[in-house]
Amino acid sequence: MKISYKHTTSEQGTDLKRRDALKAMGLGGAVLLAGGTPASAKTTLSTFASRKKASIVIVGAGTAGMTAAARLRRSAPNADITLIAPNATHLYQSGQVFAAVGAYRIYDIRRPTASLLPDNVTWIKDEVTGFEPDKNRVLTKAHQSVRYDYLVVALGCEYDYEAIEGLRASDIGSNGIASVYLNNIKEGTSEGAVLSRIWMKQIYRKAKKSEVKVLFADAPAPVKGEGTALSMLFLTEDMLKGNGLLYHGKPLHQKVHFTMTRAEKTLFPSAKIDKALQKVAKRKKNIAIDYEHRLKRIDKVRKIAVYDTPDGEAEIAYDYLHITPQIRPPQAVRQSPLAVQEGKMRGWLEVDAKTLQHPTYKNVFGIGDVLGLDFAKSGGAVREQAILLQDNIASIMEGKPPVLTYNGYSASPVKTAYGKVLLAEYNPKGLAPTLPLDPTQPRWIWWEVDLHIMRHAYFGLMMRGMM
Ligand SMILES: Cc1cc2nc3c(=O)[nH]c(=O)nc-3n(C[C@H](O)[C@H](O)[C@H](O)COP(=O)(O)OP(=O)(O)OC[C@H]3O[C@@H](n4cnc5c(N)ncnc54)[C@H](O)[C@@H]3O)c2cc1C
Repeated sequence: MKISYKHTTSEQGTDLKRRDALKAMGLGGAVLLAGGTPASAKTTLSTFASRKKASIVIVGAGTAGMTAAARLRRSAPNADITLIAPNATHLYQSGQVFAAVGAYRIYDIRRPTASLLPDNVTWIKDEVTGFEPDKNRVLTKAHQSVRYDYLVVALGCEYDYEAIEGLRASDIGSNGIASVYLNNIKEGTSEGAVLSRIWMKQIYRKAKKSEVKVLFADAPAPVKGEGTALSMLFLTEDMLKGNGLLYHGKPLHQKVHFTMTRAEKTLFPSAKIDKALQKVAKRKKNIAIDYEHRLKRIDKVRKIAVYDTPDGEAEIAYDYLHITPQIRPPQAVRQSPLAVQEGKMRGWLEVDAKTLQHPTYKNVFGIGDVLGLDFAKSGGAVREQAILLQDNIASIMEGKPPVLTYNGYSASPVKTAYGKVLLAEYNPKGLAPTLPLDPTQPRWIWWEVDLHIMRHAYFGLMMRGMM
């Protein structure tokens, strides 16, 4: 099949000179998924290490658990490190969009967990069911009770498709409904990528015969991998223009009417990136964005989505629907004494926003999507958090206070077309670019890095705690 990356003159205007491109390739490889270099987030490793003996337990073997295990293996060489997680296969979730749009195969984004496990880390293949932090114990499904001196909670989050009345996770893949997010991290499978690929082909086939209404319904914050649904929207539209892996020579995009509904007042949480993405969306005349629309119900038979809006209930008819699921804390955390007990973060893991240390149980730390913080939930954020976890745990093992602090850095590579990525690097204060390149510009170089380098950097470097 032919992959076509044709672009308009205005898009070409953002291209780089060769020298800048090489610099970006060389230095920026670490950025897209795995977070920034010290230049972006100002987090530098102090190479802090502790030679004390201790038992460290890490729960969860996703992006956060694996990178934490690799880093702690180095900073606490005499500690016994145990990882508790059920997944025999590790899924590179950021690659689900590329798999959905035909640029990756599913096997490109999966690896056996055992092949990524650092040396001298014991893996208990089991599920955590509860925490007894007063007794320094983790409870598991196989009725084990695992004792720790230090605990790292990295259980990610759960999808809650059922929060939308009339929808079940099992509906994804039928009645015109897709969700690139759908995966089973405990099994390491990515149904969402496979089903979204079929869904895109269905839209393409239908557009050959008639007009089509495609609806992208986003969830209220917090969202995992912010910008993922936008990538799917832009790439689906671009595919119909004749770009990407369904090249057919005849543009069909004008026959397809896209609507994206956002529960929030913006397209993206960071103001400058929001403005840049709105500009991209406005250039595409067949895309409408409705803000402050909170999806509450769908009628699968009539293909109607029902929303709560500031002006009351609103209905939107669709032929094809893409869902961004609401997320919730993992059950083992939300029912435990480690969870935030009240307020909007109720149920998520309670940690100090700067040190990632539990405020009551000082030998407990958290990392990744499970955190009850107002920051973005992304692999980029995890990379940053892992650096400070490495130092902070070694520091408290030495009887000293945590040394590093987190500033909320995140990176979300938004695919604005086949061959273009807007590398949204930000923190709560604004833009946080790793390189002296405007992170609000869609660029071909970030597409190349995202598609060809990041997957290898993720498995080869980040999973080994080296990025
Ligand atoms: C479609 C998609 C696209 C994305 N795109 C990007 C992107 O481009 N850039 C980016 O930076 N981020 C992206 N993300 C977000 C990124 O993948 C997550 O933020 C990251 O994986 C979070 O890591 P985590 O370890 O906290 O959670 P996960 O990686 O989800 O891992 C959770 C782990 O906990 C384990 N677990 C769960 N329950 C239990 C239990 N009871 N007991 C023991 N273990 C348990 C699981 O088996 C798993 O090993 C994307 C996510 C998705 C889904």
